[in-house]
Amino acid sequence: MDTFWGPDFHALACADPEIADVVLAELERQRGHLQLIASENFTSTAVLAALGSTLANKYAEGYPGRRYYGGCAEVDRAELLAVERARDLFGADHANVQPHSGTAANLAAYAALAEPGDVVLAMELPHGGHLTHGSRGNFSGKWFHPVGYRVTPNTEEIDYDEVRDLALAHRPKMIICGSTSYPRTIDFATFRDIADEVGAYLLVDAAHFIGLVAGRAVPSPVPYADVVTCTTHKVLRGPRGGMILCRAELAERIDRAVFPFSQGSPMMHTVAAKAVALNEAATPAFRAYARQVVGNARALTAGLAAEGLRPVTGGTDTHLAVLDLRALELCGREAEARCAQARIALNKHAIPYDTEKPAVASGVRVGTSSVTAQGMREPEMRQIARMIGTAVRGDPGSAAGARALRDVGEEVTALTGGFPPYPLRLHPDDPAGVTRSARSPH
Ligand SMILES: *Cc1c(COP(=O)(O)O)cnc(C)c1O
Repeated sequence: MDTFWGPDFHALACADPEIADVVLAELERQRGHLQLIASENFTSTAVLAALGSTLANKYAEGYPGRRYYGGCAEVDRAELLAVERARDLFGADHANVQPHSGTAANLAAYAALAEPGDVVLAMELPHGGHLTHGSRGNFSGKWFHPVGYRVTPNTEEIDYDEVRDLALAHRPKMIICGSTSYPRTIDFATFRDIADEVGAYLLVDAAHFIGLVAGRAVPSPVPYADVVTCTTHKVLRGPRGGMILCRAELAERIDRAVFPFSQGSPMMHTVAAKAVALNEAATPAFRAYARQVVGNARALTAGLAAEGLRPVTGGTDTHLAVLDLRALELCGREAEARCAQARIALNKHAIPYDTEKPAVASGVRVGTSSVTAQGMREPEMRQIARMIGTAVRGDPGSAAGARALRDVGEEVTALTGGFPPYPLRLHPDDPAGVTRSARSPH
């Protein structure tokens, strides 16, 4: 291609070698480590291309056809495509693709459906709720009146009777379901019934699993929810950002709650990248991907159970699992550190009714979105489970432990080398070696 259109790594490497080095080092980290952070994924290079395009320069406050700036004809087309693709993919009446993040989408949903001081019933943070579900340090806990539901101590699944009892007792304006760590599918029909019983709105925060909905690997909340909020960068594999789906009657309120209430100008390069990701998510290949994400999560979870890490709720129906480490007499913080030393990225996580502080935690959370995007399948999941089992037992303070962590690290390098998430050259025109020579020696 001889017309300039956007990302040019040469230009970055010449203009700013320090930042070019960061970009390359991060690419190497993403390639050379196992990425098991449940909220992360690898976008396609097409999504990255839209993100790195000159649409980043455009101011476009407002909505297509109703902008506060001129020159929006081209970016309008991108937003209309994103909205149309979201509506088609999820069967939603209306979509707003402008929220900058999942948090921004939730802020707009609160603004559209509730008033400060209103009671909001949502999952408690230590049981899997998000900060925006009533955490004290967040707007949702400061400006609203949160009431929390939990999972049961025995099954560790949502106690729908408790949700109903709390709803009847507290009469919330809005009920939220959707979680950062709940590994099971959620019974949206029962949440809808409870919301109807008390005249509450039902907000489904599908931040984590909307990609599985797109790939038809889990049930859709769209027929049951008044509003569905989500991110576009988790299982969905799109750019970092948020999105809102809703019924036609709420469309205007949602749009006004995004702009002008809680945001100014949308990021049109990100909106275009969302359109690209939504197009990809509508393909049979993406359905196969979503099914494999769940199959891989099941295989990884079963393998970890065999290594003595107990899966919360006994397993998973989604892309993620939370593992209880207490049988190994190990906290989540230490397990995370040992895995990191072995080039395995995962995060410590509270288990239900955890007695440890969140910064220590009794568990870890894993997800299979990224490794599945790399092309790994069940055999690799069994291998990863064995590597994690070895890594968490590897006490770096002992010579044997340090050696075990080094060995696992080498096995990770060998495994990830066979499944590169991105082409080994950054750009087809990139002369071999440019990506490397731009790196300053450490
Ligand atoms: C990730 C997540 C969010 C927030 O997304 P950000 O883009 O990080 O703001 C909101 N709700 C839930 C349940 C999440 O998992």
